[in-house]
Amino acid sequence: MVSRVIPVEPFDLVIFGGTGDLARRKILPGLYRRFQAGQMPPESRIIGAARGELTDADFRGMVAAAIAEFLPAAQQDAAVIEDFLTRLHYIPIDAKGDSGWPQLKALIRADVVQAFYFSVAPALFGDLAGRLTSWGIAGPEARIVVEKPFGRDLATAQALNATLAQHFSEGQIYRIDHYLGKETVQNLMAVRFANILFEPLWKSEYVDHVQITVAETVSVEGRGAYYDTSGAMRDMVQNHLMQLLCLIAMEPPYHFDPAAVRDEKLKVIRALDPVRPEDIVRGQYLASNGQGGYLEHSENPQSRTESYIALKCHISNWRWKGTPFYLRTGKRLRARASEIAITFKEPPHSIFDDAEGWRENVLVIRLQPDEGMNLKVMIKEPGPGGMRLVQVPLDMSFAEALGDAHGDVPDAYERLIMDVIRGNQTLFMRGDEVEAAWAWADPIIEGWEARGDRPQPYDAGSSGPEDALMLMHRDGRRWREIR
Ligand code: NAD
Repeated sequence: MVSRVIPVEPFDLVIFGGTGDLARRKILPGLYRRFQAGQMPPESRIIGAARGELTDADFRGMVAAAIAEFLPAAQQDAAVIEDFLTRLHYIPIDAKGDSGWPQLKALIRADVVQAFYFSVAPALFGDLAGRLTSWGIAGPEARIVVEKPFGRDLATAQALNATLAQHFSEGQIYRIDHYLGKETVQNLMAVRFANILFEPLWKSEYVDHVQITVAETVSVEGRGAYYDTSGAMRDMVQNHLMQLLCLIAMEPPYHFDPAAVRDEKLKVIRALDPVRPEDIVRGQYLASNGQGGYLEHSENPQSRTESYIALKCHISNWRWKGTPFYLRTGKRLRARASEIAITFKEPPHSIFDDAEGWRENVLVIRLQPDEGMNLKVMIKEPGPGGMRLVQVPLDMSFAEALGDAHGDVPDAYERLIMDVIRGNQTLFMRGDEVEAAWAWADPIIEGWEARGDRPQPYDAGSSGPEDALMLMHRDGRRWREIR
């Protein structure tokens, strides 16, 4: 199977923060990959704009080094890289001053797609948006791409939305949640809405519960000062896990288009019940094997910021009333694994005597590693000796099923940037969606702050705090193992 590449229109893409970590690790290598795939028309240009006094040649050298460092050797083609580098330019610019803006204005073309990627600290988003319009650089069709974090609570998110709205319309604003660019995350929608198989069962009548897990092995070492202002709830749940929950729980949109999909996601967030304090478990990893614990990494020995959180959520609507959604995410856990597991209920009546062998059907959608799906079904245990039941997995690895075509799959940032150029906002968060997610998250955070709750310690390399296990055991359920 060969994947199809449809070239986008010619563009000028300005990356504010073009010398930063994100630009070097993800955005610029990703753009090279799209160029290599033939998706980026040759007359397109990428303009790095940041604080350092670089020349075009310096910037090209930096990008060549980033490609060499962050892409596998098999994807590096010297001739293509050289060609790609000629599309790159650099302008030293000050988001808070006047320097660089006249040069940018002179460079940007009005007759191609204009996109401005704000890969800088969110404190600069307003400055950039204001200068792009006051200097008359951004045309009426220009797009801006804003990185996370989008606010740290409802008030800051509203303020940021209001600031951006002074300069750009909602249709021009692309709020990135790179989870939405992942192949498997989009597959959630394909699995649900392109098959008749699952949708009739996709409701509380048949679904016992849903588990959403995003487990990381990394610590916060090196970014402890930032992380201490955030924590797992703000850094992961309010955005990434919330998006996954929305895609699992939403009603079928009438069409796969931005307004329809985002309307349905918003309805899910608005239908979320407040989370009870006893349904929240927060944790902090301990030191192990010579590596520091959270408190050493945070620089604040008294920090109460959580590096792990587990929550039980309920969605109050017709489809999901009574089906709990368990969410968990954390750092320094046993394995790096993201998955969604939908556990179905028992059949209404069993005709078999072998009650012991029976297990629930579970549909697992693996986001990483080894993206794929696994459906656990009951069959007869082979051999003589009567009807004994055994559970077997119907396992599908997308890499195996799709062969070579899968190797070419663009990574999340590549796909999302191409969507910006195409003007497709389906996989970006709308302003009201972000605000609704904060409106749900704020009281949860305020609750534990007001109670003075301390996160529970957990061993590095474990699957999280003991109480997280209890959160499930209490309900007669158990987490799937993190492997
Ligand atoms: P960084 O600190 O590595 O880079 C910051 C960039 O901003 C540099 O290019 C710097 O020159 C530029 N800059 C700073 N002040 C400026 C000014 N006054 N005028 C013009 N340019 C200025 O940051 P980063 O890690 O690349 O992160 C950028 C954004 O992406 C942030 O919003 C961050 O939260 C978000 N983000 C980063 C990652 C990541 O993995 N690094 C992941 C998700 C989101």
